[in-house]
Amino acid sequence: MAPIAVAPTSPSPSAPRGGGGNISHSAIVIGAGVVGISTALYLQRGGVATAVIDPLGPAGGASFGNSGMLSPDTATPIALPGMLRKVPGWLADPLGPLAVRPAYFPRALPWLMQWVKAGQLPRVLAISDAMRALHRETMGCWRELLGDGLYHELIRPSGQVHVWEDEAESPSEAVEQQIRARHGIESQVLSTDDLRQMFPGIARDIKRGLLVPGNGYTVSPQRAVQSLAALFRTAGGEIIDERAMKLIPREGGGWMVMTNVANRSAPHVVVAAGAWSAQLLSPLGVRVPLETERGYHAMLFAPGVRPAMPISSKTRAFGITPMEDGVRIAGTVEIAGLDAPPNEQRAKVLVEHARRMFPDLRTQDVRYWMGFRPSTPDSLPILGGVSGRPGLWLAFGHGHFGMSGGPPSGRLLARLITGAAPGIDPAPYEARRF
Ligand SMILES: Cc1cc2nc3c(=O)[nH]c(=O)nc-3n(C[C@H](O)[C@H](O)[C@H](O)COP(=O)(O)OP(=O)(O)OC[C@H]3O[C@@H](n4cnc5c(N)ncnc54)[C@H](O)[C@@H]3O)c2cc1C
Repeated sequence: MAPIAVAPTSPSPSAPRGGGGNISHSAIVIGAGVVGISTALYLQRGGVATAVIDPLGPAGGASFGNSGMLSPDTATPIALPGMLRKVPGWLADPLGPLAVRPAYFPRALPWLMQWVKAGQLPRVLAISDAMRALHRETMGCWRELLGDGLYHELIRPSGQVHVWEDEAESPSEAVEQQIRARHGIESQVLSTDDLRQMFPGIARDIKRGLLVPGNGYTVSPQRAVQSLAALFRTAGGEIIDERAMKLIPREGGGWMVMTNVANRSAPHVVVAAGAWSAQLLSPLGVRVPLETERGYHAMLFAPGVRPAMPISSKTRAFGITPMEDGVRIAGTVEIAGLDAPPNEQRAKVLVEHARRMFPDLRTQDVRYWMGFRPSTPDSLPILGGVSGRPGLWLAFGHGHFGMSGGPPSGRLLARLITGAAPGIDPAPYEARRF
């Protein structure tokens, strides 16, 4: 994909409403989640006059309610060898870690089959190399974007702990260990006693743990993304609260974004609309295997218990993260598409899991939330251009890892768009791998 012309950095006036969609920005980013805002900010800093379009504003999607775990040292895809054997057991329990709504199953089947294929060991190792290459820059990119002051306010490079309720290792743990060894990722095995020292009040059911010291978290995913948006606006960037309805190639080059109220044009358009990205692309004949893994959280505002760092239960597939306004319990995967209403029972069961881990947890003051993870079958995002569609760029599909992968993806995209050296090999993230 040819690099694009770069416009001056001066603040851009709003494009006119209606009419022919005169060009007033060099790039339009669709979506103000962590991926879109990071991309817009990197583009802006690279000298590209950029606008963001999103009817919900910054952090109104999955970027609002995730667990906030930032994981430069996580290079393990979701689909792993040995996992298929667990799936029937999970599916038998409608409130288990994985649920597929029966009516949606036929639509999800092709994606699920690609997911199974991605879980074969040689592919898993190649995926993990690409995850590592992108994610290892997580903390550096957050710091670069936020600046030192906001970084220290919002980001905690504390480490993360994984815990198990059973003594015996599962086959997928051996693969995870192999991946950590492959990438030289530091980790430390924790006994029951270690866990009780680190997390006073943790139940004896929690038998063993693993500390990954290179990981961390944000105390507020929402405020982290909104802070990036504020920096973007302060530097002259425009965030427009409109919904992109259709992308139309312009005669002579560039793109027109037809929104619910206006036509907006630019030489470059970045689709960073999270789980909704495929809908915008399919009228152009661009097909991507994007499914939504719906996830839930229960936010406890007066929990009475505050772990010193995020804990992920590998037995029950949920996480607990200490946040600035309480403790967030999040997780579960529900395959049910973009339209089915939330099943709040899936959020309530997370509270039960957390109380089993911390029996003293106070759970009265709670908010339940559901969000749409934008997921590819191989756990890697889709980043880069589209062959035969100059000026059209893709930045979505971060699945379980968008808070970690968002800023480094934004940097990669901005470098590709401006023709700068990408820093990492972009090939593993290209749409054409599917
Ligand atoms: C329960 C849960 C826990 C998670 N925990 C973690 C974690 O601990 N660590 C981690 O790294 N990741 C985590 N994730 C994943 C992470 O939240 C996502 O990968 C990430 O937020 C995706 O960001 P995004 O910008 O692609 O999408 P989103 O944040 O969903 O943003 C997409 C935006 O596009 C906008 N949009 C959609 N259609 C249009 C349109 N037509 N026109 C204009 N705008 C449009 C939407 O309004 C939305 O604001 C978790 C996710 C969930 C659900």
